[in-house]
Amino acid sequence: MEVHRHETIKNPPEWFTGDVWLDAVAAPNGTGQQANAGIVRFAPGARTAWHTHPGGQTLHVLEGIALVQSRGGAVVEVRPGETAVCPPGEEHWHGAAPDSFMTHLAVWDTLPGQPSAVWGNHVTDAEYGAR
Ligand code: MN
Repeated sequence: MEVHRHETIKNPPEWFTGDVWLDAVAAPNGTGQQANAGIVRFAPGARTAWHTHPGGQTLHVLEGIALVQSRGGAVVEVRPGETAVCPPGEEHWHGAAPDSFMTHLAVWDTLPGQPSAVWGNHVTDAEYGAR
C-alpha cells in the first residue's frame, strides 16, 4: 500500500469560470485501473465550461448547493448527499449556486486513447442565470 499526498491544484481558467480547486483522489496508475476521482471545490458562482466526458461522469455533492445542466435541459439544483450521473458524451456543466460554496466528488473512467474531458465554450452569465 502507498499513501499519496497531493497538493490542491487551482483549475485552469480556460476550462472554468471563477475559482475552482481540485484535490486528486484517484487516477489510472498503470495497473489497469481506469477510474479517476477528485474532490472539486467551487467558489460561489464558479462553474465548469461546457464539456463532455467520453467515459461519462458521476458527481456526488458533499457540501453547499450545486447547479448542473445538460445541453438542452434545465439548470438543476443538486444538494449534499445527492448524485448527478452524466452519460458518456453528453454535453454539460457543473458548478456552485451564486450564493453558495459547493464541493463535489467527481468520479469518471478514462477510456483507452481518449481524454478525460473534451472542453467547449464557457457557460455565459445568461446560461448560468437561466434557472
Ligand atoms: Mn463534467
